[in-house]
Amino acid sequence: MTVFSCARCGTALTGDLVALPAVPDVDDPDEGRDKKTQRARSTVPRGHYAIDPDPWGAPFRAAAAPRQHTRSRGRGLLRTGTGSTISAGQRDSLVVHPDDVLPRLDPFTCGDNWTGCCGPTGAHGPNLGCACGSRLATWAADCMGPNELHLDPVRVYAWQPGAAAQDRLDGRERP
Ligand SMILES: [Zn+2]
Ligand SMILES: [Zn+2]
Repeated sequence: MTVFSCARCGTALTGDLVALPAVPDVDDPDEGRDKKTQRARSTVPRGHYAIDPDPWGAPFRAAAAPRQHTRSRGRGLLRTGTGSTISAGQRDSLVVHPDDVLPRLDPFTCGDNWTGCCGPTGAHGPNLGCACGSRLATWAADCMGPNELHLDPVRVYAWQPGAAAQDRLDGRERP
Protein backbone atom coordinates (compact mmCIF):
# COMPACT_ATOMS: atom_id res chain seq x y z
CA MET A 1 0.00 0.00 0.00
CA THR A 2 1.34 3.36 -1.00
CA VAL A 3 0.46 7.00 -0.40
CA PHE A 4 1.71 9.71 -2.73
CA SER A 5 2.61 13.08 -1.29
CA CYS A 6 3.75 16.40 -2.71
CA ALA A 7 7.55 16.46 -2.75
CA ARG A 8 7.56 20.20 -2.08
CA CYS A 9 5.20 20.57 0.89
CA GLY A 10 4.60 16.99 2.06
CA THR A 11 0.81 17.11 1.72
CA ALA A 12 -0.69 13.66 1.09
CA LEU A 13 -2.34 13.68 -2.34
CA THR A 14 -3.84 10.20 -2.35
CA GLY A 15 -5.21 7.69 0.07
CA ASP A 16 -3.58 4.33 0.49
CA LEU A 17 -3.29 2.87 -3.02
CA VAL A 18 -2.57 -0.65 -4.21
CA ALA A 19 0.05 -1.06 -6.95
CA LEU A 20 -0.95 -2.65 -10.25
CA PRO A 21 1.79 -4.61 -12.05
CA ALA A 22 1.23 -2.58 -15.23
CA VAL A 23 -1.00 0.09 -16.69
CA PRO A 24 -4.19 -1.74 -17.72
CA ASP A 25 -4.76 -2.05 -21.46
CA VAL A 26 -7.60 -0.03 -22.89
CA ASP A 27 -8.65 -1.58 -26.17
CA ASP A 28 -11.72 0.48 -26.73
CA PRO A 29 -11.99 3.60 -24.59
CA ASP A 30 -15.42 4.29 -26.09
CA GLU A 31 -16.82 1.26 -24.37
CA GLY A 32 -18.05 2.42 -20.99
CA ARG A 33 -17.75 6.10 -21.85
CA ASP A 34 -19.95 8.21 -19.58
CA LYS A 35 -23.01 9.37 -21.51
CA LYS A 36 -23.10 12.76 -19.82
CA THR A 37 -19.44 13.76 -19.45
CA GLN A 38 -18.17 11.74 -22.46
CA ARG A 39 -15.28 10.64 -20.27
CA ALA A 40 -13.83 7.20 -20.74
CA ARG A 41 -13.80 4.83 -17.83
CA SER A 42 -10.65 5.52 -15.83
CA THR A 43 -7.73 3.43 -17.06
CA VAL A 44 -6.80 2.62 -13.46
CA PRO A 45 -9.54 1.46 -11.05
CA ARG A 46 -10.21 3.32 -7.81
CA GLY A 47 -7.84 2.64 -4.97
CA HIS A 48 -5.03 1.61 -7.31
CA TYR A 49 -2.08 3.10 -9.16
CA ALA A 50 0.22 1.96 -11.94
CA ILE A 51 3.59 3.18 -13.13
CA ASP A 52 3.65 4.04 -16.83
CA PRO A 53 7.12 3.10 -18.08
CA ASP A 54 6.58 4.85 -21.42
CA PRO A 55 6.95 8.56 -22.16
CA TRP A 56 3.55 10.18 -21.67
CA GLY A 57 2.11 13.61 -22.41
CA ALA A 58 3.84 16.81 -23.46
CA PRO A 59 6.21 17.53 -25.06
CA PHE A 60 5.71 15.67 -28.32
CA ARG A 61 8.07 15.16 -31.23
CA ALA A 62 7.50 14.12 -34.82
CA ALA A 63 7.29 10.39 -35.30
CA ALA A 64 10.17 9.01 -37.35
CA ALA A 65 7.88 7.32 -39.85
CA PRO A 66 4.32 8.44 -40.54
CA ARG A 67 1.91 6.07 -38.92
CA GLN A 68 -0.12 3.78 -41.07
CA HIS A 69 -3.84 4.22 -40.89
CA THR A 70 -4.26 2.02 -37.90
CA ARG A 71 -6.53 3.07 -35.11
CA SER A 72 -4.58 4.90 -32.49
CA ARG A 73 -3.99 2.93 -29.35
CA GLY A 74 -6.78 3.14 -26.85
CA ARG A 75 -4.72 5.20 -24.45
CA GLY A 76 -3.38 7.62 -27.04
CA LEU A 77 -3.96 11.32 -26.40
CA LEU A 78 -6.02 13.32 -28.85
CA ARG A 79 -3.86 15.77 -30.83
CA THR A 80 -5.07 17.66 -33.86
CA GLY A 81 -3.27 19.40 -36.70
CA THR A 82 0.14 18.30 -35.62
CA GLY A 83 0.86 15.42 -37.96
CA SER A 84 2.19 12.19 -36.63
CA THR A 85 3.79 12.66 -33.25
CA ILE A 86 4.93 10.61 -30.34
CA SER A 87 5.30 11.63 -26.75
CA ALA A 88 8.69 12.73 -25.50
CA GLY A 89 7.23 13.33 -22.07
CA GLN A 90 8.21 11.89 -18.75
CA ARG A 91 8.61 8.18 -18.18
CA ASP A 92 7.43 6.45 -15.01
CA SER A 93 4.53 8.80 -14.37
CA LEU A 94 2.07 7.48 -11.81
CA VAL A 95 -1.37 6.76 -13.21
CA VAL A 96 -4.16 7.02 -10.65
CA HIS A 97 -7.95 7.16 -10.70
CA PRO A 98 -8.97 10.82 -11.04
CA ASP A 99 -11.52 10.54 -8.23
CA ASP A 100 -8.78 9.39 -5.86
CA VAL A 101 -6.83 12.65 -6.19
CA LEU A 102 -8.97 15.37 -7.75
CA PRO A 103 -10.39 16.58 -4.41
CA ARG A 104 -6.87 17.35 -3.21
CA LEU A 105 -5.61 19.09 -6.35
CA ASP A 106 -6.24 22.57 -7.68
CA PRO A 107 -6.69 23.20 -11.41
CA PHE A 108 -4.48 25.92 -12.84
CA THR A 109 -4.34 27.43 -16.29
CA CYS A 110 -1.14 27.68 -18.27
CA GLY A 111 -1.37 28.20 -22.03
CA ASP A 112 -3.42 25.44 -23.66
CA ASN A 113 -3.31 23.01 -20.77
CA TRP A 114 -7.11 22.77 -20.50
CA THR A 115 -7.64 22.54 -24.26
CA GLY A 116 -10.15 19.90 -25.28
CA CYS A 117 -13.80 19.83 -26.20
CA CYS A 118 -15.38 17.99 -23.28
CA GLY A 119 -12.39 17.98 -20.98
CA PRO A 120 -8.64 18.48 -21.15
CA THR A 121 -6.85 16.31 -23.72
CA GLY A 122 -3.88 16.09 -21.39
CA ALA A 123 -1.54 16.79 -24.31
CA HIS A 124 -0.56 20.30 -23.24
CA GLY A 125 1.31 19.76 -20.02
CA PRO A 126 0.31 19.74 -16.35
CA ASN A 127 -3.10 21.16 -15.47
CA LEU A 128 -3.48 20.30 -11.78
CA GLY A 129 -1.33 21.39 -8.89
CA CYS A 130 -0.90 20.94 -5.17
CA ALA A 131 -2.25 23.65 -2.88
CA CYS A 132 1.38 24.81 -2.46
CA GLY A 133 1.55 25.60 -6.17
CA SER A 134 3.61 22.64 -7.34
CA ARG A 135 2.36 21.68 -10.81
CA LEU A 136 2.50 17.96 -10.36
CA ALA A 137 -0.39 16.37 -12.24
CA THR A 138 -1.86 16.08 -15.72
CA TRP A 139 -5.42 14.99 -16.31
CA ALA A 140 -6.59 13.66 -19.66
CA ALA A 141 -10.38 13.53 -19.77
CA ASP A 142 -11.62 14.43 -23.23
CA CYS A 143 -14.27 12.60 -25.25
CA MET A 144 -11.76 11.12 -27.70
CA GLY A 145 -9.04 9.93 -25.40
CA PRO A 146 -8.42 8.09 -22.19
CA ASN A 147 -9.47 9.18 -18.72
CA GLU A 148 -6.16 9.20 -16.87
CA LEU A 149 -4.59 11.30 -14.20
CA HIS A 150 -0.80 11.17 -14.22
CA LEU A 151 1.26 12.30 -11.25
CA ASP A 152 4.73 13.68 -11.99
CA PRO A 153 7.20 11.15 -10.54
CA VAL A 154 9.69 13.91 -9.73
CA ARG A 155 7.21 16.15 -7.93
CA VAL A 156 5.61 13.48 -5.75
CA TYR A 157 7.07 10.87 -3.46
CA ALA A 158 5.72 7.53 -2.40
CA TRP A 159 5.65 6.22 1.15
CA GLN A 160 4.23 3.21 2.91
CA PRO A 161 1.93 4.18 5.76
CA GLY A 162 1.41 0.55 6.79
CA ALA A 163 4.59 0.30 8.83
CA ALA A 164 4.04 3.59 10.66
CA ALA A 165 0.40 2.76 11.38
CA GLN A 166 1.33 -0.67 12.68
CA ASP A 167 3.87 0.91 15.05
CA ARG A 168 1.17 3.18 16.40
CA LEU A 169 -1.21 0.27 16.83
CA ASP A 170 1.43 -1.72 18.67
CA GLY A 171 2.07 1.18 21.03
CA ARG A 172 -1.59 1.65 21.78
CA GLU A 173 -3.05 0.37 25.02
CA ARG A 174 -4.85 -2.87 24.61
CA PRO A 175 -8.09 -3.61 26.42
ZN1 LIG B 1 2.55 20.76 -2.24
ZN1 LIG C 1 -15.21 16.26 -26.48
